[in-house]
Amino acid sequence: MSARRRPRLAVWKFSSCDGCQLSLLDCEDELLALAGQVEIAYFQEATSATAGGRYDLSLVEGSVTTPGDAERIRKIRAASRRLVTIGACATSGGIQALRNSAGVEGFLEAVYAHPEYVATLATSTGIADHVPVDFELRGCPVDRHQLLEVISAFLAGRRPVVPTHSVCVDCKLAGTVCVMVARGTPCLGPVTQAGCGALCPAHARGCYGCFGPAETPNTAALAGRLAALGMPRPARERVFSTFNVNAPAFGPAAAGTGE
Ligand code: SF4
Ligand code: SF4
Repeated sequence: MSARRRPRLAVWKFSSCDGCQLSLLDCEDELLALAGQVEIAYFQEATSATAGGRYDLSLVEGSVTTPGDAERIRKIRAASRRLVTIGACATSGGIQALRNSAGVEGFLEAVYAHPEYVATLATSTGIADHVPVDFELRGCPVDRHQLLEVISAFLAGRRPVVPTHSVCVDCKLAGTVCVMVARGTPCLGPVTQAGCGALCPAHARGCYGCFGPAETPNTAALAGRLAALGMPRPARERVFSTFNVNAPAFGPAAAGTGE
């Protein structure tokens, strides 16, 4: 009797820092069990051995920033039964999407001695802007527990269960005192999707919005509150313009109320 064919897993990198792939490698207690359930066919962060063909699940990290990226993601999509994006770079363009409004030429000239040799697009965009995506996992980096949930859901043939509520809810569940109410510390928790367990407020820090906009985020109300706390508009623009600057509800425009 032939052995059961294990689903083939591929992990791809586009423009990114590799942090989300490292989150997968960080699943030290679960990796052996995972390797028993799937055939890791392509994962260059973990092994230089690669296997071509079709993949049952592709995890894609990083944003599309070059013409080559745009072509490669179409090939990967065509070779993948399910395609899941992991991290802020892959879901909304990442921090490299700061170029989208500032102009890529200025960055090129500041960084490279010979920018004429660099082939780049004017924008950094998430994977879903280029090909259909089956599921987007937020975070900079992604949370390892959520990542395992996504892979487990794929193996079980169900939709992943990942919260879409705000960081504030996790603060309340953990009994963490609100840093904005108690200390006047600017915090993006009210508009940021949960995923980290409200890590920063638990250490008396405001949230910087790693997981991007929560479901129906009221950024206008938060911008008004930040203004009332004395944060001028340029500072508000900066706080909304980090890992998820290209997410529709974030970016400089989110800062524009409350004066
Ligand atoms: S989302 Fe953050 S951690 Fe993940 S690859 Fe991009 S910059 Fe790195
Ligand atoms: S900045 Fe916000 S989303 Fe990121 S780890 Fe801290 S609380 Fe979590």
